[in-house]
Amino acid sequence: MPQEETEPITIREDRYDPQPIEEKWAERWQRDPALYAAEPSSTKPKYYVLEMLPYPSGGLHMGHVRNYAIGDALARYMWMNGYNVLHPMGWDSFGLPAENAAIANQTPPRDWTLGNIVKMKRQMKRLGFAYDWSHEVTTCLPDYYRWNQWFFLKLFERGLAYRKKSKVNWCPKCATVLANEQVVGGCCWRHEDTLVEQRELEQWFLRTTNYAEELLRGLDQLPGWPEKVRTMQRNWIGRSEGTLVDFRLDYSGGDVFTVFTTRVDTIYGATSVQLAPEHPITATLAAADPDLRMKVTQLIAEQGKAKESGDIAAIEKHGVNTGHVAVNPYNGERVPVWVANYILMDYGTGAIMSVPAHDERDYEFAKKYGIEIRQVIVPNAGGGTRATQEVPELPFTTMDGNLVNSGEFTGLSCADAIKKMSAYAEQHKFGKATVTFRLKDWGISRQRYWGTPIPMVYCERDGVVPVAEKDLPVILPENVDITLTGGSPLGRVPEFLNTTCPRCGGLARRETDTMDTFVDSSWYFYRYTDAHNDKVPFDSKIAGYWFPIDQYIGGIEHAILHLIYSRFWTKFMRDLGMIENDEPVERLFSQGMIIKGGAKMSKSLGNVVSPDEMVAQYGGDSARMYTLFATSPDRELDWQDEGVAGIYRFLAKVYRFVSRNAQKNSAETRKDGSFSPEARAIQRKLHQTIKRVTDDFQGRWHFNTCISAVMELVNELYAVEAKGLPASLLAGVQRDVVLLLAPFAPYLAHELWEMLGERGSLLKAPWPRYDPELAKEEEIEIPVQVNGKLRSVIVVAPGTPPEETLQKALAEEKVQTYIAGKDIVKKIFTGKLVNIVVR
Ligand SMILES: [Zn+2]
Ligand SMILES: [Zn+2]
Repeated sequence: MPQEETEPITIREDRYDPQPIEEKWAERWQRDPALYAAEPSSTKPKYYVLEMLPYPSGGLHMGHVRNYAIGDALARYMWMNGYNVLHPMGWDSFGLPAENAAIANQTPPRDWTLGNIVKMKRQMKRLGFAYDWSHEVTTCLPDYYRWNQWFFLKLFERGLAYRKKSKVNWCPKCATVLANEQVVGGCCWRHEDTLVEQRELEQWFLRTTNYAEELLRGLDQLPGWPEKVRTMQRNWIGRSEGTLVDFRLDYSGGDVFTVFTTRVDTIYGATSVQLAPEHPITATLAAADPDLRMKVTQLIAEQGKAKESGDIAAIEKHGVNTGHVAVNPYNGERVPVWVANYILMDYGTGAIMSVPAHDERDYEFAKKYGIEIRQVIVPNAGGGTRATQEVPELPFTTMDGNLVNSGEFTGLSCADAIKKMSAYAEQHKFGKATVTFRLKDWGISRQRYWGTPIPMVYCERDGVVPVAEKDLPVILPENVDITLTGGSPLGRVPEFLNTTCPRCGGLARRETDTMDTFVDSSWYFYRYTDAHNDKVPFDSKIAGYWFPIDQYIGGIEHAILHLIYSRFWTKFMRDLGMIENDEPVERLFSQGMIIKGGAKMSKSLGNVVSPDEMVAQYGGDSARMYTLFATSPDRELDWQDEGVAGIYRFLAKVYRFVSRNAQKNSAETRKDGSFSPEARAIQRKLHQTIKRVTDDFQGRWHFNTCISAVMELVNELYAVEAKGLPASLLAGVQRDVVLLLAPFAPYLAHELWEMLGERGSLLKAPWPRYDPELAKEEEIEIPVQVNGKLRSVIVVAPGTPPEETLQKALAEEKVQTYIAGKDIVKKIFTGKLVNIVVR
């Protein structure tokens, strides 16, 4: 590897002043685009390290700095270990805040967004993050979003993109659709006195559910993901095995509705059936009964509120008896039909059977409304199959039981009964075993301006027609006044709206919906590998070299949607033949949040720490190193300004030490045998520290403890500095301390590296190796005598106090057998051996 050409400009001062040092190196690094460049092909092993890309909101916050400081330390460590590293950055730059800012400041979303990108990129560079900017991706530019459109056409071709009616938030005053974030306490964010309505609109969906089973199974193949994230995804996908059972309403020609249950074995204990307030049968029954209609409206409102607060499980359960009954097809029993506020239309079938004796929720509901509680399962004896006569406390909800009072199924175990009763339903054509998922298809339509236009047109003759691939991109028009109300913003731009039909050439109208921004982030990391390709989204060979991502780092708030959508996108691209990997990410890390004074940083609380201020006061090295040092990276970090000052003081200490001792640097190799005890202690501490930092990079990432280890080493250097260390050792220790700091405080490390007479980037300096022999604590062997006879030998560190040595001798197992039950008359430590006299 050729050394880079740089003039050695060294700022030598006794005082550590980070500003000129950091400015000097930032400037030098920016002049060298090859510095962080990934090699297109290499004999080195590859390593793709990635931090989640930010939304360009206008400025970095400390949470970003923490996220990027972790990734940057890792990238630098991998470079120093000889890897070919890809470490890119980009901008998730479509989305609602740009529209809100446009309304507030009269700035077009594009100008606002691109302006913010310039600002944030400058901040990233000032903090010294080692990104390969030649791979930069900006999702709001046509060279990127045209590929969103291209993928949409592929999805549509394969039947994986489709339209269906779905509910949206509608403000009657704005006459437009609102995003969920624009609904505040049930009202419009711009019209605080206007209740938001629900309207049904035709919208675009992607069939994520086609991959539900694979998305679930794939989680078992991701040992490098936090268990917490895998559990969250499993729950989100929500696979449950159960049985569908048809109940018929008890009037001639009565409607049939289907109940989904995971416990069909308890169906003889069903004493009511319950419908979601929005179930079509509820609507039919309510149509003929004004009183019921009023009560159902109330239940819908309660449910709406609970959904908005996001916690439907905590809803206070209410219901209303419709006065109708339905027939249980297993025993012909007529059970009352209720409508209840905790049954959701979009989960299962929107109808359940209620078995109070064997379900917590049903039990609570039955107690409240005085519905019969009928036991049909009894516990089995000691895990066997025999039923006991034991009367359990109700509700009895486990599967360790046998059926009673259940007709021909009485006596079966619960598990057996579920199989047999599902088969029975299928045989008699009133039901079947089934698997359901909580995961829904992905609604990607947004009635917004600042997003990727969906490449479809509507023709009066041909209906819905895809735009031809050669006509992509469908450009998002500029100069759209989004401050106006009334309808979708793109619908007010005639040059955009009116087009010709790709099929018949007649007049047609463009789709005015734009895509959910989660589409942009579902595949951006593939584009990074080949960011300027204008023929295809990316070259399969290039992506194949880099994928899967070796390490992905981001906030836990993206554990579900972003990561499920990107896993879906990966599987779809694999099925298109574009890639070979099944999963995008090998190892995932979720860093903790940053808080201050016990609360999340927010403008309203006035506890926001600005990265710019931290850089101005302490320098970029101190600011980023503090985010790694304050606590382990997976934990919540409670910001302390004093902590940043502490890191600054530590770096200043290192700076002063090297300033004073750099000239003693020598190329002479280290000699081990001839060191004084102090010098040997430093050497040992050095090798122990290298081991700790290396182990942590490869394992737990507890950068806080490895930075403290470096601090301890530096303190010991200060302690022996006056006595003098052998030049050869001093040279080696200084080099290694600088190398150990390089991933955490790159500016200072480079400055000191140069001070030591070294040239070239530290990224190309090999990571220091430790010698396990030199790291080992010294030990001495002490013979232990009992009544004058040698009975054992113990091992202690030199300088162990006599009392401690004696305790260790007495506790030794062999010694114990000779002194047990006897009186100890004397115990002596001579400095060379222990003698114990017993009687
Ligand atoms: Zn409004
Ligand atoms: Zn047509």
